[in-house]
Amino acid sequence: MGMDFSKKVNNMVDKVKIIPQDIEEQMRLENVYKLWNDQVNLLLTEEERGFVKELQEFCIDYDPKINYETDVYGMFPDFGKKGYIQRLNPWKEFKLAGCKYEMLLGMNLAMMDAEFDLARLASGILCGNPTFQHGGTPELDKVQDELLSGTKVGCIAMTEANHGSDTVNMEAKVSPVDGGYKFEGMKIFTTNGPKSDYFLGYGCVDEANPRGTMVQAMLSRDMGITTERLKINAVPRVHIGKTHYNGIVVPEAMITGKPGQGYHNLFDGLVPERLSIVGSSLGICWSSILNGIIYSNLRNQFGKPIMKYQAVSYPFSDLLIRVSSATMAAFNIAKMYDENVLQVMQRGEKVTPEMSKASAQWSGQIKYLCAKLAAETAYETQQLMGGVSVTDNTRVMRTWGVSSIQEVIGGSRGVMQLIMSGNLKKMMKLL
Ligand SMILES: Cc1cc2nc3c(=O)[nH]c(=O)nc-3n(C[C@H](O)[C@H](O)[C@H](O)COP(=O)(O)OP(=O)(O)OC[C@H]3O[C@@H](n4cnc5c(N)ncnc54)[C@H](O)[C@@H]3O)c2cc1C
Repeated sequence: MGMDFSKKVNNMVDKVKIIPQDIEEQMRLENVYKLWNDQVNLLLTEEERGFVKELQEFCIDYDPKINYETDVYGMFPDFGKKGYIQRLNPWKEFKLAGCKYEMLLGMNLAMMDAEFDLARLASGILCGNPTFQHGGTPELDKVQDELLSGTKVGCIAMTEANHGSDTVNMEAKVSPVDGGYKFEGMKIFTTNGPKSDYFLGYGCVDEANPRGTMVQAMLSRDMGITTERLKINAVPRVHIGKTHYNGIVVPEAMITGKPGQGYHNLFDGLVPERLSIVGSSLGICWSSILNGIIYSNLRNQFGKPIMKYQAVSYPFSDLLIRVSSATMAAFNIAKMYDENVLQVMQRGEKVTPEMSKASAQWSGQIKYLCAKLAAETAYETQQLMGGVSVTDNTRVMRTWGVSSIQEVIGGSRGVMQLIMSGNLKKMMKLL
């Protein structure tokens, strides 16, 4: 008789401790943050440091209460109360906001729990950001408050089975009807989908003319959307799904981009989305390295700490050099985006075409760099730390899971290269 492997996989074993108590204690979140602050503090303003201090104090308190046997969604209201579902846009009393604040939020949350950070980013940024840029109706204001307070969950439903990288040529159909728009079709890889109350959805009136007819709208589950969960082992506590529009009618008040405008909204939204993902990727990088550095300074083999072997310390130095440099570049891009795009839009002014183009290029470049670096850093740290890092005894294993999807979400490696190669060809026009 054959073995029932599915049952074996589903029957999770309890945590068995192999890490020495003293090392585990030193790897606590408070110490990881302490080392991170030492590396990053000089890159922050006084206000940013104050924001990080408060956020870290909250996370240090919260960390021991996280149950890794359950999904992440129960954590949303706790973080919503503190304004930690997103920090791209000022909301309620949480005025310290912008792309750099959002990166700082993503980094610190990913160092605590990278799976939670992935889910809150999908809800707060991918679904929530358009309510700031293209909202304004009382209905959309309500959605915004519910998403950002963490009482409701949101997602973005853009990718389809036949259209991933080629998302613009989507098949989902939108038809104008009395009082709104009818949405038909199916989306896949919807992060948070199976748990979502709100879906930032897309479809086209004329499939042959997506640029001229794409619609963007806030769909809600109670309109009749249904979802199925996909099994994605890398992030077991995040629900990622297949979403069916089921021919629901979305009222005018929930439309964030009318036919044609939806296309521009989709592309404008990609820039802050990618920059936010950069924050999470860098959080994964820092988490991996700093946990690895603490462990390797305490773990003895052949009579001395493994960090004393160049085979361990040199690769860690190499990672630290690259992660530190990527962090400085990311902060710089975030500052440029805040000053030249986000704050300009918030004042109701027009962003210059040069800045619009440059921010699209910079966000793609830094997303490409940091997503790849996250996967590399997580994997390399595991090799440098040894066996304990692939068990549930440290947070390195969980972080590694999330690192493995950073390159594919928010625009894959190939598409980032495609955008850049287009620019390479255009460069000749300057000569
Ligand atoms: C865990 C996870 C979460 C996700 N969350 C969401 C979400 O919340 N919402 C959502 O809408 N989508 C989401 N996605 C979808 C994600 O954005 C897509 O997977 C991604 O856009 C790539 O599409 P694809 O998987 O269909 O790959 P394809 O488009 O089929 O690409 C396959 C390969 O070909 C390369 N390629 C394709 N076209 C080109 C080209 N022209 N030039 C160069 N290389 C090319 C790609 O880089 C890739 O290597 C998620 C995906 C995953 C895995």
